Amino acid sequence: MNTFKIYFIILIAISFFACNTYQKKESDVVQTIAPTKDSIIKKPKISKDFILGKFDYKTDTSFVLVDSKYSVKPLYLKNEAYTAFKSMQKAAEQDGITLNILSGTRNFNEQKAIWERKWKRYEHLPPKERALKILEYSSMPSTSRHHWGTDMDLNSLNNSYFALGHGKKIYDWLQKHANSFGFYQVYTEKSNGRTGYNLERWHWSYLPLASEYLNAYNNQISYNDINGFEGSEIAKELDVITTYVNGIALNAKTY
Ligand SMILES: [Zn+2]
Repeated sequence: MNTFKIYFIILIAISFFACNTYQKKESDVVQTIAPTKDSIIKKPKISKDFILGKFDYKTDTSFVLVDSKYSVKPLYLKNEAYTAFKSMQKAAEQDGITLNILSGTRNFNEQKAIWERKWKRYEHLPPKERALKILEYSSMPSTSRHHWGTDMDLNSLNNSYFALGHGKKIYDWLQKHANSFGFYQVYTEKSNGRTGYNLERWHWSYLPLASEYLNAYNNQISYNDINGFEGSEIAKELDVITTYVNGIALNAKTY
């Protein structure tokens, strides 16, 4: 191949990547104006605002509104997680199981509303105990996996529902099949030493994406980034990044 041809191919390749970079409006991607050799080879960087939930998933092209037949209310998921969910739902349906999404993506402001409602509810407790009480089942804003569009709550928010009858049938099905669609129960029993939130049989996470986001979280986020809500100063004292953000099932940690 002569030199001219090589230059021509490189030029085409660069303009292709330049177009794609320019057109993308995705919150988890930091836009680069002029792609360098490095930015073409490396994976796009996941933005801090995205992992902290500080973006609008309703206008983000990498998120999609879930069809009302799968959910109890209008909610959004990351495209890829939604596609995987639909495959899982189809397989479940064939086995007589209906998967119903109760909660999907929540951004910083939505998590802040939940957190501060509970913060008020437990105002009789001293600050540390107050936060710990909420943290049994709810995340501090900027520490929730629900920010990422990869995690969903299914069918019931009661562990007891999944222990008997039809609820148990659903849970058994998920335990047997969800992993093959990329979904993992991250808040498992704590008896094996898992830290953080209590058991949540309803919370399932799409790990092909979420494991990357957790990595990005651990690489980019510090306690200086967790603020803007009541009680945020306790995040560091309770070491929520280690204990809660990383307090997931071992098979999810090592995914
Ligand atoms: Zn959840």
